[in-house]
Amino acid sequence: MKRTRILVAAALAATLALAGCGREGAPGAEGSGYQPTVAQNVTVEGSPTFDAMKQRGRVVVGVKDDQPNLGFRDATTNEFSGFDIDIARMVAGGLGFSPDQIDYKVIPSAAREDNIERGDVDYYVGTYTINDKRKQRVGFAGPYYVAGQSLLVRADDDAITGPQTLQGKRVCSVTGSTPIQRVKDQKLTDQVVEFQTYTQCVDQLINNQVDAVTTDDAILLGYAAQNPEQLKVVGEKFSSEPYGIGVPKADTALRNKINDLLQASIDDGTWKTIYDGTLGKSGTQTEPPAIERY
Ligand code: GLU
Repeated sequence: MKRTRILVAAALAATLALAGCGREGAPGAEGSGYQPTVAQNVTVEGSPTFDAMKQRGRVVVGVKDDQPNLGFRDATTNEFSGFDIDIARMVAGGLGFSPDQIDYKVIPSAAREDNIERGDVDYYVGTYTINDKRKQRVGFAGPYYVAGQSLLVRADDDAITGPQTLQGKRVCSVTGSTPIQRVKDQKLTDQVVEFQTYTQCVDQLINNQVDAVTTDDAILLGYAAQNPEQLKVVGEKFSSEPYGIGVPKADTALRNKINDLLQASIDDGTWKTIYDGTLGKSGTQTEPPAIERY
């Protein structure tokens, strides 16, 4: 009798585990299976950053770790996965480094320029919008994707439908991000709540402490895909957020080389493979953008 009960419980647990997997598959945390090609005998003439990587025998890449299907760390396996991570691996491969020669450094939005300027990372791949203000401090290869600002609300909220419906609402975003700046500049609400990470905002939303989270649709769709019972993305995109790979400002040689690698990945279908295996699963729809060299 007791034995049967244990078996039933075990079977139930297995079914639940399977159901969880089948539905969302540890959402946001599955690797795409992409294996980068590791180039041989690479040279990047005149790049101090590349010289430092060679000497170290390793690459230090700045990333996010809480953005499903973009830059995400599985709490159990500690494995990083997502579109930004695969792009970072593709670039490392093109520079002659295998995935196991990459050290990931998790850096929040507000600390990106500081870290790149200090040389604490060789390059940064993490939903990093290219803009003129940031270009004063860092260089950008890309864009390798174009997102747009959007809104995440509770699934049962019918009041918030777009940026013009935020007055009087508590709106959460991340310090140092372009979306929080836009909310303030356009005075979309006077109740802005600010954290270091979007996960903190999403927790606040679920716990009724804020009414909306705003940032790029690519990020918000990942959270909604993880938790469709409680969360939904609403309205049209209301900005253009071209994602670049941040590099030290003076290292034009590295920037040019990464642009070459991005272009090659778009031309040979690697970009599409990576996209389909990661961000494409969040429900975004896109084609690769044109690389802008400056
Ligand atoms: N792409 C925007 C930015 O770079 C928002 C996403 C982020 O904070 O990483 O500020």
